[in-house]
Amino acid sequence: MKARFSELLGAAQAQNAAVGAFTAYNLETAIGVVRAAARRKRGVILLVSERSFDDVFVGALVAVAERASVPVCVQLDHSVVHRTIEQAFELGAGAVLAAGSKLPFEHNVALVQWAAGHGEVEAELGGIEGDEDIATAVAAGALTDPEEAADFVRQTGAACLAVSIGNVHGTYREPPELDWARLEAIRERVDVPLSLHGASGLTDDHLRRAISLGIAKVNVNTELREQYLRTTELALDRVREGANVLALNSAQSEAVAAVVEAKLAVYDGY
Ligand SMILES: [Zn+2]
Repeated sequence: MKARFSELLGAAQAQNAAVGAFTAYNLETAIGVVRAAARRKRGVILLVSERSFDDVFVGALVAVAERASVPVCVQLDHSVVHRTIEQAFELGAGAVLAAGSKLPFEHNVALVQWAAGHGEVEAELGGIEGDEDIATAVAAGALTDPEEAADFVRQTGAACLAVSIGNVHGTYREPPELDWARLEAIRERVDVPLSLHGASGLTDDHLRRAISLGIAKVNVNTELREQYLRTTELALDRVREGANVLALNSAQSEAVAAVVEAKLAVYDGY
């Protein structure tokens, strides 16, 4: 069933757990994500990236959410485009990430305030480097300032704040070193749930520690794409005989489900 973004995050935060947010590029991915969530009896967030944003596709993800046996929220990932943000809510997405961290502080505030007038919003402060859709190796960007974060959340009405504590999208150029003291300082000053992007290159221990220090949402994308492609490659020979696309689709969904299930186990604190 469709779930409110803030309810999913609030429930996770109350249990010292995190909600998994996974990017879907097609229905096979979305079905795999929701299947894993159903197996673990956990709510989950289906992310749609701005580049794959399309009326029909977002509508299809919302339909997947509505028919799921567990709570599912569809979220438009990083966007600063007003029309795309409006459309996402119109199509039934439960949240957007109004990604103004590259804008001057006041413009970021204005963007999030505006978006929060349309629906529930995740905001970001401090730069999360890297590309969401295509893996490149990058170094961490500007880190989130704890005092500024408190001020930002008070002014904007954001339902969730994405932090930059050494995390990046894609792959890590150097072994990731997360600034735990900074995360603690942000947690002490900010009431809303915090999110961590770029979890693909982080170890399970990193993630457990981040969750114990107040991260309530973890975004994963690159690992799913890699597993999806590996599985596709391996399945192709097998499915060519009989042109068995059904078998390919099912292998892809199952591969995604396996990665998601393992992640969700970590996010639950096991
Ligand atoms: Zn992200």
